[in-house]
Amino acid sequence: MARIVMKFGGTSVADIDRIHNVARHVKRETDAGHEVAVVVSAMSGKTNELVGWAQTMPKATGAESPFYDAREYDAIVASGEQVTSGLLAIALQSMGVDARSWQGWQIPIRTDNAHGAARIQDIDGSEIVRRMGTGQVAVVAGFQGIGPDNRIATLGRGGSDTSAVAVAAAVKADRCDIYTDVDGVYTTDPRIEPKARRLPKISFEEMLEMASLGAKVLQVRSVELAMVHKVRTFVRSSFEDPDAPGMGDFDNPPGTLICDEDEIVEQQVVTGIAYAKDEAQISLRRVSDRPGVSAGIFGPLAESNINVDMIVQNISEDGSRTDMTFTVPSGDLEKAVSVLEKVRDTIGFDAIQSEAGLVKVSVIGIGMRSHAGVAAIAFKALAEKGINIRAITTSEIKISILIDGPYAELAVRTLHSVYGLDKQ
Ligand code: ADP
Ligand code: ASP
Ligand code: MG
Repeated sequence: MARIVMKFGGTSVADIDRIHNVARHVKRETDAGHEVAVVVSAMSGKTNELVGWAQTMPKATGAESPFYDAREYDAIVASGEQVTSGLLAIALQSMGVDARSWQGWQIPIRTDNAHGAARIQDIDGSEIVRRMGTGQVAVVAGFQGIGPDNRIATLGRGGSDTSAVAVAAAVKADRCDIYTDVDGVYTTDPRIEPKARRLPKISFEEMLEMASLGAKVLQVRSVELAMVHKVRTFVRSSFEDPDAPGMGDFDNPPGTLICDEDEIVEQQVVTGIAYAKDEAQISLRRVSDRPGVSAGIFGPLAESNINVDMIVQNISEDGSRTDMTFTVPSGDLEKAVSVLEKVRDTIGFDAIQSEAGLVKVSVIGIGMRSHAGVAAIAFKALAEKGINIRAITTSEIKISILIDGPYAELAVRTLHSVYGLDKQ
């Protein structure tokens, strides 16, 4: 007998039929004698609809938050998970499985005060553990907790993955299964490249890079938590028959295991390709080349909560002026330009040029630590397809390349194939 956390994403609970199907997955595990906590997302599309409604509301003048009141934004957008947790609890009860729903505040799942992008600080799992011991399934609303201000706080988009891993760590679960609409983590997004292969295992570090660089199959924070708390996490499909052979295999469930790199016997040089759309590029022309200039540019952007990603600074010809290029999310472009215009005189530059709608494609693999020439292969392959490279950044285990938006899919497929990741 074991303790399992099962998380079901938006497409897995998209309608009443699918919720009944989820209940069958849960019943399979309780019938096998396991203690189960379930974490649910809102029905797919629901959170977008709720965010859309919040966005139609008037904005407070001069407010930093894009919403009138971020605490009310959270009250609005957290409601989708409340609905699915109640529906699933009823579906389970109707099948003879004892179950009840839990909102974040009822457990409680305590977060910090960053409404809209809160981080979980502490979960008191004692009551749900006690009830799981009596055979009751805890159906937890994902994506939400309660802040120090005693208000509902949400964890950022895709946050139910993080709720699931955090609950798994809190109740010391033997496994955390993330059920979604694909049957595991693939070498790249299978919706873009049908030749993508499912990985039996992927290391925490690689999954962290994949998720940070755009593969939204897991929220970044959930991977960090799984890594820190050593939560045995599987990504698997809710769309398979819940009672098909092997589905209840405890040690080897079908799907992808996220694990330590030593658990992976056949390590490849390149494990996967990720892409992130909606990147924007800003270039500051003829910036004064003197100490303090970078701080003058990136300090005010950070204070405005704008995430700057790739940064390229040219070597100036005469030592007095240079060009500085960097990327921000497209959605922050307007705000970034206005922040920079305000500090133009203190920084000292001639012009701002900007462009939205760019894409960052990334090649990820732990094997890069010990293999040279991996980047050169990417550059050559993209050149052969006539794809222009705007900026490059690298780390020990990844190469990221900024390109024009329309080339995204071609670039992903080209890189996927050149590193031999295509299905045989
Ligand atoms: P959920 O609603 O279950 O949380 P998401 O839509 O957030 O599901 O994540 C699953 C999706 O992630 C898949 O449908 C797939 O298109 C996408 N995805 C992107 N990159 C990958 C990858 N490398 N492997 C698997 N899925 C990926
Ligand atoms: N429903 C939330 C979202 O769409 C959280 C999640 O699905 O993980 O972002
Ligand atoms: Mg998701």
